[in-house]
Amino acid sequence: MARDTGPVCKQCRREGQKLFLKGERCLTDKCGVERRSYPPGEHGRGRVRASEYRNQLREKQKARRYYQILEKQFRSYYEKAARQEGVTGENLLRLLERRFDNVLVRLGFAASRRQARQLIRHGHWLINGKRVDIPSYQVRPDDVISIKPDSRAADVVRAATELTAAVPPWLQADHDALTAKVLRLPERSEIETPVQEQLIVELYSK
Ligand code: SF4
Repeated sequence: MARDTGPVCKQCRREGQKLFLKGERCLTDKCGVERRSYPPGEHGRGRVRASEYRNQLREKQKARRYYQILEKQFRSYYEKAARQEGVTGENLLRLLERRFDNVLVRLGFAASRRQARQLIRHGHWLINGKRVDIPSYQVRPDDVISIKPDSRAADVVRAATELTAAVPPWLQADHDALTAKVLRLPERSEIETPVQEQLIVELYSK
C-alpha cells in the first residue's frame, strides 16, 4: 500500500504541532517541533496569509498525517462518513479511529501508527483468532485482539505498552497477556485527536 515517505518530522513542523508519528522519540527533546518550531523549507519563517480555505486545507492535511492516510483513501472515508446517518465529521473521525493500526496505538500495543502498520502487515496480530494483516481493517464491537502466539514482536509490543498512559474507555487492554477487546464504538468526546473535523467537512462540501 502506498504511503507518505517524506521526512516524518517535517510533517509535524508543517502542521505546527506534534503529531506523534515517531513513537518514543516524540516524547524526548529530540522532537523536530521542539527543536525547530517553524515550518520546513526556505520560506518556513516567512509570514503566512491566513484564509478560511487555508485553515480548512491545513486541517485536512493534519488529519491525513495524524492518521497516516493518503489523499484518495482519506477522501473515500469522507464520502463514506457523509453517507452514514448522524454528524458527518464525527462519522469521519469514528471511521479513522476504528482502523486497526490506530486501535493498536490507542491500546498501547504500538508506539506509532507506522509501527502498528508494520506489525500488522507482518502478521503479528489476530482478531477473533484469525490473522488480520490489513492496517485499514475496521474493528467492531466485541472484536478480540491478540498477538500471535510465539510472535517475535512481543518484546517490541511490551516496550510500547510502557509508553501508554491510558486506554480509551471504548477499548479494554490486557498489557500482560497482550490481548484486548473492543467494547463499543467511540463517542466523539472519547476521541483524543488534534483534528477539528468540522473544517474538513466544510472543505469537502464546497
Ligand atoms: Fe512529530 Fe514525533 Fe518528529 Fe516530534 S519527534 S516532530 S512529534 S514525529
